[in-house]
Amino acid sequence: MPETPDSGPQRIALVTGAARGIGLGIAERLMQDGWQVVLADVDGRECEQSAASLGPAARAIALDVRDEEQVREAIRRTEEWYGGLDALVNNAGISDPHSGPLEELELADWQRWLDTNLTGVFLLGKYALPLLRRRRGAIVNISSTRALQSEPDTEAYAASKGGLDAFTHALAISAGPEVRVNAIRPGWIDTRSPDQQQAEPLSAQDHAQHPVGRVGQPGDIAALTAFLLGPDAGFVTGQIWTADGGMTRRMIYAD
Ligand code: NAP
Repeated sequence: MPETPDSGPQRIALVTGAARGIGLGIAERLMQDGWQVVLADVDGRECEQSAASLGPAARAIALDVRDEEQVREAIRRTEEWYGGLDALVNNAGISDPHSGPLEELELADWQRWLDTNLTGVFLLGKYALPLLRRRRGAIVNISSTRALQSEPDTEAYAASKGGLDAFTHALAISAGPEVRVNAIRPGWIDTRSPDQQQAEPLSAQDHAQHPVGRVGQPGDIAALTAFLLGPDAGFVTGQIWTADGGMTRRMIYAD
């Protein structure tokens, strides 16, 4: 295992859907914490640009998480580059929850949500697990509070994230004691660029409805991910962590 000058063995993380949004925020935070990060995304070009913006400790792989061959190859290349893997962050997903009325939802569209948000996590887990076992690593799956509560016409997304929560606790039992597996359920995370957020700010009500007084940022999810992957979470596995500014704890009955 390669050594870094001052912090011991180098830790390697693979983050999917890392070209932008929450995944890019997670990659950035892990790099600040001294990890070497492989950014993987279906948009290979944007992924290359994002990795380049993070510096030489970041590498990019074009990866469609629905494609078994591509997943196998991404894990193989990660092992070839770094000799192992310490962390897998399954963040890639169709983040739009709205699939339309169920009566009009095509099977192919239902499948697209399930394949991306759930089957991809199975494939990554399948091929990464042998490497993670060797290094006593950890997995974090990015779920959603929509596994718990819904707006109309979001069945495919909700089902994919509910499945992901169940997959997480099942795998935690199978993968231990070597590998810990947790999930995070983000609430509303504003993934727009700082410039966009400044140019078109969210309303005061958008923020104030949250018990913490604000909408979330990618860094909020990245901080929890960093904790769950790190040694301070060594006694924590099989858990689903809600990071939503308290929204799922607020009663919303009309007066
Ligand atoms: P985002 O900005 O759309 O980023 C998701 C990234 O995943 C995109 O770069 C996307 O690429 C990529 N991706 C999509 N399909 C893929 C595939 N088959 N293989 C590899 N990469 C793929 O979304 P985000 O808001 O950061 O969300 C990240 C995760 O957090 C998702 O799992 C989402 O469900 C979850 N989440 C987000 C929120 C929120 O408020 N933002 C709340 C709860 C949960 P393309 O866009 O090019 O397809």
